[in-house]
Amino acid sequence: MKGKVYLVGAGPGDPELLTMRAHRILREADVVLHDELVSSEILGLARPSAHIQNVGKRCGRRATSQEEIHSRMAAFAGKGLTVVRLKGGDPLVFGRAGEEMEALRREGIEFEIVPGVTAALGAAALARISLTDRRLASKLVFLSNHRCAEKTSADWKHVISSDATVVIYMPGTDYDGLAARIRATGLDSETPCLLVSCATSSQQQIHQTTLEHLRKAPRFTSPVLLVIGAVAATASREKDEAALERAENGR
Ligand code: SAH
Repeated sequence: MKGKVYLVGAGPGDPELLTMRAHRILREADVVLHDELVSSEILGLARPSAHIQNVGKRCGRRATSQEEIHSRMAAFAGKGLTVVRLKGGDPLVFGRAGEEMEALRREGIEFEIVPGVTAALGAAALARISLTDRRLASKLVFLSNHRCAEKTSADWKHVISSDATVVIYMPGTDYDGLAARIRATGLDSETPCLLVSCATSSQQQIHQTTLEHLRKAPRFTSPVLLVIGAVAATASREKDEAALERAENGR
């Protein structure tokens, strides 16, 4: 009998942000194929006997090709094993889940999706910004700045506007180029921006700026998200006491 593949969201970092279902399935897994972003604390929740493989990419170079990931999922499930394909955040947000589900369907392998807290929501919670504060924003846009993305800034014109909160995943480090690309959509140079690094982990950092000054922003440790729009100016400057306490306790 064929096993089953679970495409599971590991959330933005803090293991407490895993869903109860993700936690249970992770404990039941025979095999865990995980992305680079998944922390060792979360992997530590799997059974000691579970076979754990990192299939993530490093420094932009894919350590394991997408085709190889598909064939490993199929091979393990073909042996009747329970496979967890563990991804940072939510598996359906910039996570190549579309291709993986297609491959699983092709192989006739049963699969299930377990949602996770996407990075934008972890970052918003850390900065205490309401992404859709109705006084400031009437739409919420998730974009990827990945260099492999086929879309260009011409496409961004249709979705970026002054009444939007725009969250850019994988912003890279060329902030000058990125700011120019965003300004080309017509956004004012004074538009508030917020860089959030390692949200919900003990290394989390925030930097508030504007589109004009984005190029001077610090290059934080990856993963980093960029939030653009009026709500970014409302980011909390208070210390996140709960996060500090967690960091002190070593988690
Ligand atoms: N599926 C994931 C996104 C994968 S793309 C999700 O739903 O969150 C990877 C990008 O997500 C990173 O380059 C970064 O932009 C963002 N990201 C993931 N975790 C993050 C975190 N803890 N803090 C800030 N950005 C994060």
